[in-house]
Amino acid sequence: MTLELGVIADDITGACDVAAGVSAAGLDAEVRIGVPSAGSRTDAACVIVALKSRTAPVDQAVRESVAAARVLRDGGARLIYQKYCSTFDSTDAGNIGPVADALLAELSADAVSVGTPATPAAGRTMHRGHLFVGDRLLSESSLAQHPLTPMTDPDLVRVLGRQTPHRVGSVPIDTVHDGAGAIGARIDELRADGVRHVLLDAVDDSDLDAAAEALAASDAVLLGGAAGLAVAFARRLGGGSPLAVPGPPEGRTLIVSGSASERTRSQVAAHTGPLFALDVEALAAGTDAVVEQALEFVRAASGVPLVSATVDPAEVRRVQERWGVERSAALVEDALSRIAALAVERLGVRRILVAGGETSGAVAAALGVSTLRVRRVVAPGVAWTTATDAAGRELDLCFKSGNFGGERLFVDAWTEDARTEDAWPEEEMS
Ligand code: ADP
Repeated sequence: MTLELGVIADDITGACDVAAGVSAAGLDAEVRIGVPSAGSRTDAACVIVALKSRTAPVDQAVRESVAAARVLRDGGARLIYQKYCSTFDSTDAGNIGPVADALLAELSADAVSVGTPATPAAGRTMHRGHLFVGDRLLSESSLAQHPLTPMTDPDLVRVLGRQTPHRVGSVPIDTVHDGAGAIGARIDELRADGVRHVLLDAVDDSDLDAAAEALAASDAVLLGGAAGLAVAFARRLGGGSPLAVPGPPEGRTLIVSGSASERTRSQVAAHTGPLFALDVEALAAGTDAVVEQALEFVRAASGVPLVSATVDPAEVRRVQERWGVERSAALVEDALSRIAALAVERLGVRRILVAGGETSGAVAAALGVSTLRVRRVVAPGVAWTTATDAAGRELDLCFKSGNFGGERLFVDAWTEDARTEDAWPEEEMS
């Protein structure tokens, strides 16, 4: 199949979320970590470039997103999709608005961006331009207290309006319910009025399907949103025969967890195998020694070993007060990523499940993997992927966002014929 959908994702677990959904909808998906080199080719129908740009400086996020769009378009992608978080994680400085403006400038002078973070299957719905997380307005959900991107305004037309000099408009749910023709007509009207960014209401998947139908034909549109709308496009485009993907490679297994999210805490609690708990105090005193202890633990472990920094929020706060937010995060990410890479190099580990978005980015970098191909979807937004590391070793990797996966993920993810869990996380997904 030729490349149809080119996605630029602002973090790696968000990229894997799209890849899992798109694959489940029948379209071959590949994740590229970082901007792919010019001229790189693929036989996947959907390529998702995973950046680390959600909270990066604006100019870096813009530069990398534009570079990714160029490579994707050169590779033949007909549709370009700006993937952001389903809770619209951003600040008044960006990065969703500035990246969308730069991508529009790249596409064509009269292009408009059209998108929605709505992902109804995950409880994210848009109504009258307002984003809901389950039954609560975004501003009344836990995202209002997010440490980096607190979302205190649920009116996304207003939120995006503060991030761009261009006008922002919306397609209300009544129009969406009137179908693809009405959606297209409303977008044309807004465009004629000088609007450059359009946000769509959507409360269930059929709304996203209608939007995808309206947008598929248009070539002057930058698509945007969370996994919901991307997967609606995959449902339209799907039906290609899936590429043959091998089973998991022979080798040992490992879980590393650097997420402090509520769902990950319950997954750690439900883990039945051996556990090595990382202690930030010990890491601050000397990371090398702790890394060696953890490797010795993995070497001697029977069952699936878990190396975990996961603690409850009070303990994270205590550690952050003592060592600073950045320093404590860096200590944990450095240790976990080194442990993962050395476990592959020295101990024959070939399957790794990583919990946490930032943690996943650090582990992917330490392993030196550049391409992930979805092998098996384990739960909504969570997939095992096939990758080759810098030394040419075949790996099976699962990068999951903190609040993704069912409570027994650390137990069940290894069972190849396990039924896909159908429970979506309630809060704070990508
Ligand atoms: P999530 O997807 O749940 O947000 P991330 O990996 O993106 O998970 O973020 C969790 C952050 O918290 C990481 O930067 C990680 O290094 C940091 N962290 C994890 N455990 C601890 C701990 N015990 N003390 C301090 N910081 C921690």
